[in-house]
Amino acid sequence: MINHNEMFLLKLGEVVLKGLNRRSFEDKLVNNVRRRLKSCGSFQVYIRQSTIYVEPTTDNCDMEAAYAACRQVFGVVAVARAVPCEKTVEAIVETAKTYLADEFAAARSFKVESKRADKQFYLNSIQISQAVGGDLAEAFPHVTVDVHKPDLTVYVEIREKAAYVHAPALPGAGGLPVGMGGHAVSLLSGGLDSPVSSWMMARRGVELEMVHFVSPPYTSQQAQDKVLELARLLTAYCGRMIVHIVPFTEIQEEIRKNCPEEYFTLIMRRFMMRLAEAVAKKAGAKALITGESLGQVASQTMMALGVTEDVTTMPVLRPLIGIDKVEIIRIAREIGTYETSILPYEDCCTVFTPRHPATRPDLEEVRKAEAALDVEELVAKALAGESWVRVKY
Ligand code: ATP
Ligand code: MG
Repeated sequence: MINHNEMFLLKLGEVVLKGLNRRSFEDKLVNNVRRRLKSCGSFQVYIRQSTIYVEPTTDNCDMEAAYAACRQVFGVVAVARAVPCEKTVEAIVETAKTYLADEFAAARSFKVESKRADKQFYLNSIQISQAVGGDLAEAFPHVTVDVHKPDLTVYVEIREKAAYVHAPALPGAGGLPVGMGGHAVSLLSGGLDSPVSSWMMARRGVELEMVHFVSPPYTSQQAQDKVLELARLLTAYCGRMIVHIVPFTEIQEEIRKNCPEEYFTLIMRRFMMRLAEAVAKKAGAKALITGESLGQVASQTMMALGVTEDVTTMPVLRPLIGIDKVEIIRIAREIGTYETSILPYEDCCTVFTPRHPATRPDLEEVRKAEAALDVEELVAKALAGESWVRVKY
């Protein structure tokens, strides 16, 4: 049923626990919600007692899109669609009767759960639930009160300005507001893993900037567009971001010409780390993020990771390190990147893949093999060819 007073109550998670930082967490979160709602219409967004209120200010707001948007903002653990009313038992009962009429029609049992955020209100939460529940049971004779396993739970919140009535809230994205966890550069390929690893760090409040390596003509424009599309999908959660595109062809060709085949991938990955670190330093970012998962491929054994990490002094965050592929795929589906990731365009990693990659590489050996290259010059040339795109939701 359409109710023109409908609004959303956003429940905050860990933000509540952050003590002294709480104020800046809440400010960030309110701003992130406001920014994310811009494409859905005009809304008033404000916070009271650790709950964010989202109220449409015009009739033409897209409430479905806004509801979905609120559920994607990190720092929000649950979102309830609610209707405000006067702070009296009669008004609350009337509101529940009309707003939740469809839910009542489908239910055979119900209970009322109340919360009194306004401690001045003359009934406590148990008394509110009893009064409202009694009247609703009379209004809907086909439903009985069941406090243990009801089909429907009616929530009543007595707050500062009004009382709010709603059905159960749906879960939000959880985590911490983007911007509270620092700024990092994420290495984004077209695969399944790196969009998920990026999403996971953004959920811990990290503001992201992406770097993607391209090897034309071995990799195509479609492969690059696919990565930009993955970045765009991530902006629903992370906000707008910059994607740096770095040319990688010459580095790969030089490696193939001058280095032993078993080390191709490892040396290539060392170059990726150097370039990503340079991009991060320029952007003021303090860490790198990859989609590596222990043992997934030859370049992700423990020794291979050590060889890769050798060339950077920045922390390398690998949120998927202990996560199985099945679980990674589940998250990719949930966040909506799966279908794009499985499009069959080649990545620069799959060009020049060695037949027998070293899985227990010796760091000194790899360093020696790499000494055949002019590392500094190759890095400088790749960086000189860098371009970037700003991706928005
Ligand atoms: P993914 O599914 O994310 O591509 P993967 O399992 O295929 O990962 P690799 O191809 O070895 O593993 O890459 C490991 C990580 O290196 C990726 O998760 C990503 O962070 C980074 N990476 C790989 N290729 C690129 C690229 N072309 N541009 C930017 N980063 C890349
Ligand atoms: Mg890959």
